[in-house]
Amino acid sequence: MSKQRALSGIQTSGTLHLGNYLGALRRFVELQDTYDTYYFLADLHSITAPQDPESLRLNITNVAATYIGCGLDPQRATLFRQSDVAAHAELGWILTTLTTMGELRRMTQFKDKSGTAKEESVGVGLFTYPSLMAADILLYQPEVVPVGADQKQHVELTRDLAERFNNRFGETFVIPKPLIAEEGARIMGLDDPTKKMSKSAASEYNYISLIDSPDEIAKKIRKAVTDSGEKIELSDDKPAIKNLLTIYALLQDRMPAEVTEEFLGKGYGDFKNALTEVILEALGPIRDRIMELTDDPAEVNRILRDGAERAEAQATKTLASVKQRMGLA
Ligand code: ATP
Ligand code: MG
Repeated sequence: MSKQRALSGIQTSGTLHLGNYLGALRRFVELQDTYDTYYFLADLHSITAPQDPESLRLNITNVAATYIGCGLDPQRATLFRQSDVAAHAELGWILTTLTTMGELRRMTQFKDKSGTAKEESVGVGLFTYPSLMAADILLYQPEVVPVGADQKQHVELTRDLAERFNNRFGETFVIPKPLIAEEGARIMGLDDPTKKMSKSAASEYNYISLIDSPDEIAKKIRKAVTDSGEKIELSDDKPAIKNLLTIYALLQDRMPAEVTEEFLGKGYGDFKNALTEVILEALGPIRDRIMELTDDPAEVNRILRDGAERAEAQATKTLASVKQRMGLA
């Protein structure tokens, strides 16, 4: 029997962080043996927020290096850049014409990212982002889409659009399922445990980047907000400590409750020191590999070009049948 397919992407909007690793990347790596995997750099999504051209170019290399540094093998997984495969933009437009304003208005990421800005000044790209994301997915006909919890709503919209297309124009798309981990799917910001950790966060104290130095990591954990009281306990009333306990546990492949037990009677200071050690141990080797690859952008580009060729073969096939069914070809 042929393998099922899995596909996911990460925006090239900054350096990747512990939330990306625990909620997405680590799972991408797990899937590469059992699934036919496609992972892309969502550079067209990243420009829904202003990007400086030089930084964007660097981020593209860095995100690709991070994929590989975390353990993705470009021989097994198809790693590519979204903008290298023109079919993304083309199917993105087609699906935009099938999406309603009401559907896009309900997307919580749009509400979060547009924040308090007046509608007049919010970019249209940020609004129509989910239609492009649907195209990213549907072009490759994957059965599963491994993502963090924040992307669940977008994958659900993707399913709706695929069903809508299939009903109107005939069976074309596989209906994909989101694959979301029970633990780690929503790592919270270190500076504010009510919001998810985000690479486009305003403060660098929001996240631990996968390439932060040991000193930076120690400092960020020291500064991480904690809850009132002194006890280490796993409770929804203590979102900051719960988040730190979750990070600790996941990096050691343990359950948060077990780790909580271990720190019974200890103070926040002791726990933070131990957490810093655990993070350094887990991220050290990853950081070294990322650094090695970012020093060799030509090699990274070669891998991405090769991936784009493989991805394009698949994407153009789907796009051709979409156009044929719609009367565009
Ligand atoms: P941005 O702030 O630019 O949107 P991001 O940090 O949200 O960046 P994305 O590129 O949007 O990162 O998401 C890449 C993947 O990482 C997605 O699968 C997303 O669900 C997952 N992810 C992002 N943030 C977290 C988090 N805090 N915890 C767990 N998973 C996350
Ligand atoms: Mg995001």
